[in-house]
Amino acid sequence: MNDYVIAPPPQPAVPVAGGGRFPVRRIYCVGRNYAEHAREMGHDPNAEPPFFFAKPADAIVTDGAAVPYPPQTTNLHHEIELVAAIGAGGRDIAVGEAIGHVWGYAVGIDLTRRDLQAWAKKGAKPWEIAKGFDRSAPIGTMVRAAGVPQPLRGRIELSVNGEPRQGADLGDMTWDLPHVIAELSRYFELCPGDLIFTGTPAGVGPVVPGDRLLGSIAGIGSVAATIA
Ligand code: MN
Repeated sequence: MNDYVIAPPPQPAVPVAGGGRFPVRRIYCVGRNYAEHAREMGHDPNAEPPFFFAKPADAIVTDGAAVPYPPQTTNLHHEIELVAAIGAGGRDIAVGEAIGHVWGYAVGIDLTRRDLQAWAKKGAKPWEIAKGFDRSAPIGTMVRAAGVPQPLRGRIELSVNGEPRQGADLGDMTWDLPHVIAELSRYFELCPGDLIFTGTPAGVGPVVPGDRLLGSIAGIGSVAATIA
């Protein structure tokens, strides 16, 4: 029975290679999961472990779509990231079993209002307005985990207007994906439909209207977005 008093909002979903769509429940993100990026942001990766934050599920933008330059910022940054999609939920997941909870993978961009993030850090304020704004999570076509034999290694890179900006290897992560899943599941019960943006390598920087972003991860795929 549909007794909603307004029309229910649409279910955010990510297209899957070969057909179908992956419905998105929550979007978790890892902060400072590559040492070089932690250093470029002014932090000591040996002193401070990675951590978690989140975006709303409807922040996703499907592959190739335009992203309007968001309001309330003059310093919008790109962050290319591996995205893992949870197909089997759980809490207190063991590191050795974590990969088995992944349904698929995609390439995502964690768009960030860097000036608002700096304001939040300085004042010990929450990060939502810096990270969880509308259309802040472009994501490419998802591939099934069965088609990704080696999700812990592979070149991850992003270019803007054809110029290389970010480049590293997934193996450079401070917490590799099994540790990300295990650690996250100590704080939240993970459920089918959850996405995890696993952090960005060094080379983050600003984008402006008209810029064309192209990110890729070897063996997984790509993501394209244009800032409008
Ligand atoms: Mn990020």
